[in-house]
Amino acid sequence: MSNYESAWINDELRMYRKTVREFIQTEFLPRQQEWRKQHRPDSDAWKKAGQTGLLLPDVPEEYGGGGGTFAHQAVVTEELASAGVHFSCGVQSIVSHYILQYGNEEQKKKWLPALAQGDLVGAIAMTEPSAGSDLQAIKTSAIRDGNDYILSGSKTFITNGWHAGLVCVAAKTDRRAAASRGISMIVVETKDLSGYRVGSSFEKVGMNEVDTCELFFDDVRVPSANLLGAAEGSGLSQMMEQLRYERVMIGVGAVATMERAVAITTKYAKERKAFGQALIEFQNARFKLAQCKTEAHVGRVFIDDCIARFMAGQLDTVTAAMAKYWLTECQCRIVDECVQLHGGYGYMTEYPIARMWADSRVQRIYAGTNEIMLEVIGWSL
Ligand SMILES: Cc1cc2nc3c(=O)[nH]c(=O)nc-3n(C[C@H](O)[C@H](O)[C@H](O)COP(=O)(O)OP(=O)(O)OC[C@H]3O[C@@H](n4cnc5c(N)ncnc54)[C@H](O)[C@@H]3O)c2cc1C
Repeated sequence: MSNYESAWINDELRMYRKTVREFIQTEFLPRQQEWRKQHRPDSDAWKKAGQTGLLLPDVPEEYGGGGGTFAHQAVVTEELASAGVHFSCGVQSIVSHYILQYGNEEQKKKWLPALAQGDLVGAIAMTEPSAGSDLQAIKTSAIRDGNDYILSGSKTFITNGWHAGLVCVAAKTDRRAAASRGISMIVVETKDLSGYRVGSSFEKVGMNEVDTCELFFDDVRVPSANLLGAAEGSGLSQMMEQLRYERVMIGVGAVATMERAVAITTKYAKERKAFGQALIEFQNARFKLAQCKTEAHVGRVFIDDCIARFMAGQLDTVTAAMAKYWLTECQCRIVDECVQLHGGYGYMTEYPIARMWADSRVQRIYAGTNEIMLEVIGWSL
């Protein structure tokens, strides 16, 4: 539907989108190949993004954020996906929302402005080599010693790991308690921190523009004042609550990617000739694209509803799981179909659709696998 526009868009957001788009086109897009080679964005990319207002757009101005709503974050996520650019400012926002929601005034004033400016890069560290879906089984511990915690363990697959100056770590503060009460979120400032080590960036199937690393904590001392929340043991419930934000954001990126895939492939199908006619003249190609366009539009309407409900504080955990599950399945299905319509060129990384195919796959895995999403939805039956 070419005349469809999301109901949550307004003039101010249109202007913000223009700024974000121009910035991504001029500053990030030309650097993608280099970022992929070095397996991380340039360090100054974070500061530039901060100066332009891409970081923490939905955090109040009093803490250095943009003072906007989730719609502003959605605009940034959409624009990155529409440009095929990978830059994990979404994770920066996720970390900031943990601090905003559970941090005390001192913590908010200390960390949020630095995250908003890109002086600090944030990461969220839940997954461990032996505990991903089963978060309750994490082994990393944080044991009180005077005014400090001693943090021991390791985390894996951590987005922004190489750049991160601030890591929000899920750790067991009480190893004897049930996980629902024994896990806490602790903020670790990594600069010159003794016992903290970052592994090299993983070689991934896609999204190599982003640093994804293993983090090691060997008896690292962290001030006990860096605990998030009034008391220990709230970590699991904090993660469950905040994962809604992450899952809607993934849905937003999924829809923008589907729309891009359909647009790119429609153009290709009009240009590419076979048997003396454009591909789009073949009923099969036209029908496949018609199906993809329909699914992308259904996805768009669903995510717009999720965005509106999230902004109104009414998006429940189950619907957020549905959005993450269904939209990422749809994304992978559509992108795969679009690769097929490109023929051999669809398998060449110089063609955007090939990259989209490789980059899309992880959407069904992180932020809770889609099987875990089905469990969450299943509990509501
Ligand atoms: C590129 C990338 C970036 C990431 N970024 C981060 C990050 O920034 N921070 C972070 O903490 N983590 C991050 N992750 C980790 C990600 O969240 C985990 O990989 C994911 O939660 C799955 O955990 P796992 O890899 O241990 O798989 P496992 O939990 O071992 O799952 C393996 C398979 O078993 C299935 N399975 C497991 N339990 C069940 C069940 N109960 N019912 C049905 N099926 C089940 C899963 O669905 C999956 O198919 C990232 C991962 C990737 C690949």
